[in-house]
Amino acid sequence: MLRRNFLKFLGLSSGSVLMSTSCNNKLDAKKNTLDEFGTIDNKPVIVSTWKHGLEANEAAWTVIDQGGSALDAVEKGVMVTESDPKNTSVGIGGTPDRDGNVTLDACIMNHEGDCGAVAFLKEIENPIAVARLVMEKTPHVMLVGKGAQEFAVQQGFKRKNLLTESSRKAWEEWKKVEEYTTPINIENHDTISMLAIDKDGNMSGACTTSGLGYKMHGRVGDSPIIGASLFVDNEVGGACATGVGEMVIRVVGSHLVVELMRQGYKPELACKMAVERIISKHKSVKGMQVGFLALNKNGESGGYAIYEGFNFAKHTKSGNELIDTPFFHKW
Ligand code: ASP
Repeated sequence: MLRRNFLKFLGLSSGSVLMSTSCNNKLDAKKNTLDEFGTIDNKPVIVSTWKHGLEANEAAWTVIDQGGSALDAVEKGVMVTESDPKNTSVGIGGTPDRDGNVTLDACIMNHEGDCGAVAFLKEIENPIAVARLVMEKTPHVMLVGKGAQEFAVQQGFKRKNLLTESSRKAWEEWKKVEEYTTPINIENHDTISMLAIDKDGNMSGACTTSGLGYKMHGRVGDSPIIGASLFVDNEVGGACATGVGEMVIRVVGSHLVVELMRQGYKPELACKMAVERIISKHKSVKGMQVGFLALNKNGESGGYAIYEGFNFAKHTKSGNELIDTPFFHKW
């Protein structure tokens, strides 16, 4: 990989033009008050990123329907996606790094503000379950690499090869060009992040990914970073992210969305404002997608993306549906 291409990929090349956004947020009429949070009975509710969220939501809904916690629901929900070898952006079958290693990142957060994460984890199919055990069984928030893998094995997880034949073939093809040209955040090619409110009104969230395809070896994105890819405050709501992790980290995106909801902004508007922040803090966002998804304590949800095409799955008592989010730019 040429450094020039990597910089281009990250949108950091000099001379790039700031894409304009003319967003006039008319906010006051749409604001929540803090007293209102939790008083509307929209629970249970589950939201998750992308079309693969539909299947993950079904598993999560079963947990909640049977009286399980939001924490159990988000863990079991995203594990469906992690264990799907056809999904090339999460868990087994995930697109490898430029050297052919599948390295996984995940984090989880519960209604008490407890959180756990793993990063650069190899050969373990369900990093979200390991992240939960980091939260529950260690005094730490994050374990990475070999240490995370050793911890997983101690906890009974089996090591396995996560590079499927089709992902290996696609990587062989990519090596002929060695450019970061993989379209990102196109349907069914991305991180799954999930937020859920259970019957008791408690919220948890989870995020898991194999990260950007053909990334540099050792690269870790936003997905295992609490506050970047995921943040939950049980008094206010939760938010999660998908897309180019570097851009999300720079604005601590999910925490930003939750803090905007704390100020009263509705989920969709809070996500829009966070996307605007990303756009304003980067010289260029050309060709780079970020999408935020948020759920407030009232069970209201919404998302926003830089580019067209981001959607999320929402499961309530009335069913499971895929919702397209608004965006700033067409591809
Ligand atoms: N956010 C992930 C990362 O940067 C990738 C994605 O969502 O597509 O690793």
